Amino acid sequence: MADYLIRAIDKDMKLKITTAVTTELVSVASKAHETSATASAALGRALTATTMMSTNLKNDQDIMTMIIDGGGTIGKIVTVANNKGEVKGYVSNPTADAPSKHEGKLDVGAIVGRNGSVQVIMDLGLKEPYVGQAPLISGEIAEDIANFFYISDQINSAVGLGVLVDVDLSIIAAGGFIIQLLPGVEEADIVRLEETLSKITSVTQMITDNLTPEDMLNELLPGYELDILEKTELEFKCNCSKEKIKDLILSLGREEIENMIEEDKGAEVVCQFCNTAYQFNEDELREILETIVDDEEK
Ligand SMILES: [Zn+2]
Repeated sequence: MADYLIRAIDKDMKLKITTAVTTELVSVASKAHETSATASAALGRALTATTMMSTNLKNDQDIMTMIIDGGGTIGKIVTVANNKGEVKGYVSNPTADAPSKHEGKLDVGAIVGRNGSVQVIMDLGLKEPYVGQAPLISGEIAEDIANFFYISDQINSAVGLGVLVDVDLSIIAAGGFIIQLLPGVEEADIVRLEETLSKITSVTQMITDNLTPEDMLNELLPGYELDILEKTELEFKCNCSKEKIKDLILSLGREEIENMIEEDKGAEVVCQFCNTAYQFNEDELREILETIVDDEEK
């Protein structure tokens, strides 16, 4: 099954829900970054959450970035998504790992840490991007994002994220859900939702049982009448290119580029987001150098 998400709203306008299956994109990300089991779970949860949160973006150029930095051994988790279902991301230290908790549950909180924050930057093509931030609660990510919604927008929500990693480090299942209560709901609605959610099975169980995002709606919210608003296919996709890396080298300045030519006889630049390596030989570096001279002579 290809990865996709479903966004729906209930007929009484009391809540909205997004469900996603992301097994394939998390698999691509974990292979690209050669992440440990626990780091795969951390990166996978962050990528899944980012795809679901980016449904708020209206325009094709809009970009959402999430940075989770809890002071743990994994360092920063950086994820970026657009509204076309394309997501990319990396962690500072892909080999960070920790012993599993009970029943083989990966201890994501142990490597993420909780001395820090989750930051969300929405670049909507305006002069200033929207930036929201909230302290981390557990470093388990789902709970931290629910807290983020509450701190930044006073929205009550339930967030579930899951990544199941096999012993050979392949990804068996990944996905998640976000349920947000809309403004004006009454206490009774909150109680009803809490009661409903207390009975659900885990996200990874649902996906291992081959539930689709549509099936997950019914599994999570039985008895609610839901209107599906959107279905978006999801993929791990980086927009890097040799041309963009050239600009990056250019920004290093003349001296640095001359060093690359004289000392290293070339350069290799690796894209942080997808780990693709770009090679530049001496001639190509000289060409880049020439564009600097041209600019200065103008
Ligand atoms: Zn890339």
